[in-house]
Amino acid sequence: MFNYIVIGSGFAGSVIAERIANVLNEKVLIIEKRNHIGGNCYDYKNKDGIIIHKYGPHLFHTNYKEVFDYLSNFTDWNIYHHRVLAFIDGKKVPIPFNLNSLYLTFPESLAKRIEEKLLKKYPYNSKVPILDLKKENDKDLRFLADYIYQKVFLNYTVKQWGLKPEDIDPEVTARVPVFIGKDDRYFSDKYQAIPTEGYTKIFERMLNHSNIKLMLNTDFKEVISIDFESKKIYFFGQEFKGKLIFTGMIDELFNFKYGYLPYRSLDLRFETVEKEWFQEVATVNYPNDYDFTRITEFKHIHPASTEKTTILKEYSKQYIPNKDIPYYPVFTKENQKLYNRYKEEAEKFENIILVGRLAEYRYYDMDDVIKRALEVFEEKVR
Ligand code: FAD
Repeated sequence: MFNYIVIGSGFAGSVIAERIANVLNEKVLIIEKRNHIGGNCYDYKNKDGIIIHKYGPHLFHTNYKEVFDYLSNFTDWNIYHHRVLAFIDGKKVPIPFNLNSLYLTFPESLAKRIEEKLLKKYPYNSKVPILDLKKENDKDLRFLADYIYQKVFLNYTVKQWGLKPEDIDPEVTARVPVFIGKDDRYFSDKYQAIPTEGYTKIFERMLNHSNIKLMLNTDFKEVISIDFESKKIYFFGQEFKGKLIFTGMIDELFNFKYGYLPYRSLDLRFETVEKEWFQEVATVNYPNDYDFTRITEFKHIHPASTEKTTILKEYSKQYIPNKDIPYYPVFTKENQKLYNRYKEEAEKFENIILVGRLAEYRYYDMDDVIKRALEVFEEKVR
């Protein structure tokens, strides 16, 4: 009945399903184990009318015009520029650490001296990865690098990953730049916006097509079995000869036969407080104090006229397979090797297509995963 089955209804699965339905005009079945669509981008309105991101704050930003244009078929946008402060030594300073943060942190004469040296060495409005600044010879620049490394980066990274920064792939550490400029925005992408009615509405519109059937509350293992010897896939006991687009955890697809791929998980604690605003900006990071990594206040992201406000405290924790939600892949060479063994296994099947953060074991932002899904559709699905 179906030539295409998609496992998972996050952006990876939903984009591919939408393309199959609209471009190929073929029927597609989506199997989703949660009771809702949208994967980790799912949001909902709470009883106070505030849009809440159930799996942590999601801010859309991209330089890919094609991704912004594609998503614009399914939503209107509110212009939104994300701002993050870090609580350091009793003060809140803009993150990424920039020239404004410099003046808020140090006495003016010192800040001025460091600023002059930074501007001599680096172009205005450039981003310098913290690990590069740490290699500087100049005493003041090294002092700055060590300060930022210790106060902004080190403890946050340890809290977030349960690892020392040296043990993490540069793809992740490079994400923490020092910004040689005065722009306080967290992202510098060309397109930064929030879907006017939230992310879930985007998924509803993408999947609202007579060619798309959706099975919620269904783990793929309940309806799909795989014969690893003959490389055949069975759907409700019948051989499935179509394409299986898999966006779940690749190790789960192969019954964890080589072991579990490690992830970090999160304990997300929401609180509604009886005041109009809780903090100055959407997100405040707490690198050195408390056990949570950051607090996000949703009203800054989605304006709502209510006297109350809802905040989210995020506690990073070790992921326990079959119990916790796998949020972030942990990048180490060893884990990548393990992933590659699973990938090679998948490549032996003619009709399994892997896409998305769990199936590819990659940290993908939303725009990356949408771009990837559009490419995979063109290259492997159609
Ligand atoms: P997912 O959204 O995880 O979707 C996978 C789907 O597969 C899920 O619905 C899952 O239930 C389903 N599934 C898994 N296993 C099975 C199974 N056995 N059977 C059936 N279904 C299954 N990106 C940004 O661009 N900006 C941000 O600000 C941002 N913030 C983030 C904050 C957090 C805390 C996290 C964790 C991620 C954030 N991201 C952000 C990244 C964003 O969430 C991902 O890019 C996006 O969700 C990836 O989509 P996906 O479809 O690959 O995965």
